[in-house]
Amino acid sequence: MNIIPKAKNFKESGTINIASTFQADEKLLCCKKAFFRIVFKIYGVHLKEGEGGINLCYDETLAKDEYVIEGATVKASDKEGASSGLATMLQLMEKAEEGFTLRNTCIRQKPDKDFRAFMTDLGRQWHEFEALIGYVDLCYLNKIKYLQLHFTDDPIWTYPMDEFPRLGNDATRYTKEEIKYLVEYAEEAGVQLIPEFEGIGHSKQLIAAYPELFGNTYEEETEEVQAVTGPNMGKVDNIMCVGKPGIFENIQKMLSDIAKTFKYSKYIHIGCDEAKHENWAHCSDCKAYMERQRMDSTKKLYSHFVEKIVDMCISLGKTPIVWEGFPYEGTENISRDCVVVAWESHYQLAPELLESGFKIINAAWKPMYIVPPHHKSLQWSVTDGDWNVYKWQHFLAMSAAYPDPIIVEPTDRVLGGMLCQWECSLEEERPRVLLNLPMTADRTWNVEGFYTDEEFHAAKAKIMEMSEKLI
Ligand SMILES: [Zn+2]
Repeated sequence: MNIIPKAKNFKESGTINIASTFQADEKLLCCKKAFFRIVFKIYGVHLKEGEGGINLCYDETLAKDEYVIEGATVKASDKEGASSGLATMLQLMEKAEEGFTLRNTCIRQKPDKDFRAFMTDLGRQWHEFEALIGYVDLCYLNKIKYLQLHFTDDPIWTYPMDEFPRLGNDATRYTKEEIKYLVEYAEEAGVQLIPEFEGIGHSKQLIAAYPELFGNTYEEETEEVQAVTGPNMGKVDNIMCVGKPGIFENIQKMLSDIAKTFKYSKYIHIGCDEAKHENWAHCSDCKAYMERQRMDSTKKLYSHFVEKIVDMCISLGKTPIVWEGFPYEGTENISRDCVVVAWESHYQLAPELLESGFKIINAAWKPMYIVPPHHKSLQWSVTDGDWNVYKWQHFLAMSAAYPDPIIVEPTDRVLGGMLCQWECSLEEERPRVLLNLPMTADRTWNVEGFYTDEEFHAAKAKIMEMSEKLI
């Protein structure tokens, strides 16, 4: 068997030989371009249109996202099902002297979870544009539906923002043309991009480039202020000033740019974690704003700001996603259309988020975080500890998911899981991604009945060999 993700309905009888050709029902022709180019990248073969090879058929009886494979025929009722079926075909093919040898199978598959995701941190170490293309291909191959791009963080701003040209520099910023190309490329592959604009905290680049628009005006150099600005306030703060006159208009300009550029994306991720809100108590602009709003705590100010930018995303036609990290106070005012990534099990816990009406995504530190190799003890595999989308684990005592995991009852409001790469260079993250992404694919596609660790390692060779040709 050895298909990843594991196919629960699977029959196999020998192999058949097929031509290097492809034909598709008109309704599914949109899948052709991505399939042709990935076949070339993996097998070095230019497919041609015609009979005798892979045949993609429209079948309206199949459910959304579902596909059926019967020999050389893939059937689906939508683009996602068709793309998934073709991605599975890649695992069944071998290049022959003429055309391909194909394992002769009957497979019927449909994902248990829609949110099967991979996130890459572009804001700590520069990733060449080609790496983003490679990650789209890798997501396609693994049937990972969402690719989140963490475009900005304290060290680097990589996104070209039309209205704010001082953000980032040419050496470590993608061009608008590259981003437009990426958006079309991902759309053709049926991979949805999630642009992340990390706001409130992690905003050093924004404040360094435009202190007059985003920087706090500290009245005094308290210990709390110094913790982020250093002695004599010599370092740039990384928490934006949420009381600055014009702040909402400026955030709106940025979100509009992102919403327009990522025209096919359902989601925008707006960060919202790890902001040292206590500092706002020492900023004259934030204090004045709190007075006008009759707010008595910086925690409420934090939630208020999240509420406002969540609403902005919704008004732009996008579903906002935030990291777990905003405080309890004021949470009741945040739209429940906002999706929360539960990662640390510290600020807010998965059961509480569900209880209070949010939909959530599992990105539990253990095992869904990939970090630089010097953190040797943190190199988890997804199969460590029998992870599934309803289980949160951590390695630090500060987390409520340590030492015992947090487990929630199965529910549709856990949308799925996300593997996250943090702080690595492409070279550093590559071996972990190659191994953990197919595991993530299996555990999010199959909430139950996924491979055991042993089965996965026996099944991984083919997909890893193909993956190595993509990134
Ligand atoms: Zn302020």
